[in-house]
Amino acid sequence: MEGDSNRRGLRLATPPVQTDAQRAARAYRENRAPGGPADYYGRIENYAQKIRETTDLDDIIAILNEALAHTRALHAADEVATARAQVAAAEHHIEQLKNELELARRLVHEDPLSGALNRRGLDDALAREAARAERNGTPLCVAMIDIDNFKQVNDSFGHQVGDMVLVHLVAVIKETIRTQDLIGRYGGEEFLLLLPDSGIDEAVVVADRLRKRLAEKPLAWGSQRLFVAFSAGVAARLAGETTDALIRRADQALYQAKQAGKDRAIVAP
Ligand code: GH3
Ligand code: MG
Ligand code: MG
Repeated sequence: MEGDSNRRGLRLATPPVQTDAQRAARAYRENRAPGGPADYYGRIENYAQKIRETTDLDDIIAILNEALAHTRALHAADEVATARAQVAAAEHHIEQLKNELELARRLVHEDPLSGALNRRGLDDALAREAARAERNGTPLCVAMIDIDNFKQVNDSFGHQVGDMVLVHLVAVIKETIRTQDLIGRYGGEEFLLLLPDSGIDEAVVVADRLRKRLAEKPLAWGSQRLFVAFSAGVAARLAGETTDALIRRADQALYQAKQAGKDRAIVAP
């Protein structure tokens, strides 16, 4: 039985052969479908026949009006379809422009090597967060981060590995910080961490957690392992303090951290 149904299935799977006559009949049917060209011309012929059959001027005008209304309706439907297609094309174009703008905005604000904010993105973010902190009376902390002995990495392993260290550092920072926190490349191997709504104690905890994460997660390539360490100067924004003054204090604290032996975070007074 099963074999029978299989054979039946196989027979049914063979596509039916269409003759020229069948194809012509199908085209004729489609042509005559409602809204198709034959349907339209058929209706017009109907109106013409009605006109031939009457001598009453009022009747002829009424028939003509009916035909005109019918044609106008077709025309309007056609215009609506065209307008819809234009709107769809315009929407697609706008969507494309939006994506391009989004990409351009990212490129303008992002460091292409590390994926951190670049200096411009950092300046914008810092100005925005400082204004928000001032307005809402909320805390804002920054940490100036500088990789320890980075020159030595370049000298020992080459500039390419140096670049990999920068990428690695930013990747570890990004997976450790909260979504509202921001990391930007201040220059060379110096990065600025922005911690909105964080007090100084919290900011120190974040800096120490980052150092711990880096100590647990060395940069790995081939059979090589390289532990990356940094020093940081952490500062909490004072009421009314400019962003320049805030960064200067963080930078001074960073200098203290280097002086004190590196691989540590020091709080700015
Ligand atoms: P310290 O522990 O005191 O911070 O010393 P350091 O060696 O980290 O600092 P130093 O200022 O002596 O050297 C920084 C080096 O960073 C020098 C520069 O060539 C290198 N550097 C800056 N930008 C890049 C970069 O984009 N890629 C690479 N590979 N190196 C960079
Ligand atoms: Mg430096
Ligand atoms: Mg350094």
